[in-house]
Amino acid sequence: MSIPPSTALRTGYAEVIGDPIAHSKSPLIHGFWLGKLGIDADYRATHIEQDALADYFTRRKADPDWRGCNITIPHKEKALDHVADRGGLRESIGAINTVLRDEDGVLIGTNTDAAGFYAPISAMDLQDVSVAVIGAGGAARAVLFALKRADVGSVMLFNRTPMKGAALLAAFGLKGEALPLDAPLPPASLLVNASPLGMVGQDAYVPDLESLPEAAVVYDLVYAPLETELLAAARDRNLATIDGLEMLIGQAAIAFELFFGEPAPREDDDELRELLIA
Ligand code: NAP
Repeated sequence: MSIPPSTALRTGYAEVIGDPIAHSKSPLIHGFWLGKLGIDADYRATHIEQDALADYFTRRKADPDWRGCNITIPHKEKALDHVADRGGLRESIGAINTVLRDEDGVLIGTNTDAAGFYAPISAMDLQDVSVAVIGAGGAARAVLFALKRADVGSVMLFNRTPMKGAALLAAFGLKGEALPLDAPLPPASLLVNASPLGMVGQDAYVPDLESLPEAAVVYDLVYAPLETELLAAARDRNLATIDGLEMLIGQAAIAFELFFGEPAPREDDDELRELLIA
């Protein structure tokens, strides 16, 4: 997708829509970057219920100040009914998290989660390696999409309902196996927790990490809390870790550039992370 010239995009507003929406970190992230770059635009949170989605897109399409929106729970799938799906996302990730209006006024749906997930591991050569993924929900779909594009060797998918995991592996054309959550981990080079386990209010996910090689990376998509029991256990074993804020900030940065035409100032990530965990 081509990004329009930046000067035209330094005004107006973008937003995140969802139901509920008060929990969203997106206004803080985008507001931080707008401030750093001195862009005189706004990024807000807007509460939209499911039956108001069609009307929302009709109104925003006609609003010249609107730069686009991010989409969060529970609209990530339903929003596909209201936008052009040029990337074939309905059949792959099955969800969108960003909507933009193109030069012809057409609303385009896209998904920045897969690229946001992949950015911190882009230096890893995933060909011929085995990756363990926990979960088979929306986040797992974005992870599998990215792993498939990175030509990953095989994926062992651990899920409470293994059948769902098997269906996902088949849908993405990935080699591997679907297993129950309590099955032992393989000697995977990368372990990704893409399930809600470990989140505030959920059970922890603390598998036996002994089978992972010394050079393995443990990547937890959960960011509340930031230090999950899984990441703590991985650090105890001196394994490299990546926390959920990496993906959260990464997917937002891609959307930010699409909305406002300038790259997010990632050199300020440390300050942004401080704000997000305060
Ligand atoms: P989701 O669609 O609700 O996840 C569903 C998956 O979680 C299914 O595989 C389900 O198993 C499993 N699951 C749910 N409750 C479980 C339980 N009590 N015990 C065992 N398995 C359980 O959620 P999601 O949208 O994929 O998000 C997953 C996590 O990723 C969340 O913590 C979310 O915050 C995080 N996330 C982070 C980012 C980021 O930018 N860092 C982005 C997206 C998501 P069944 O198939 O058996 O039902």
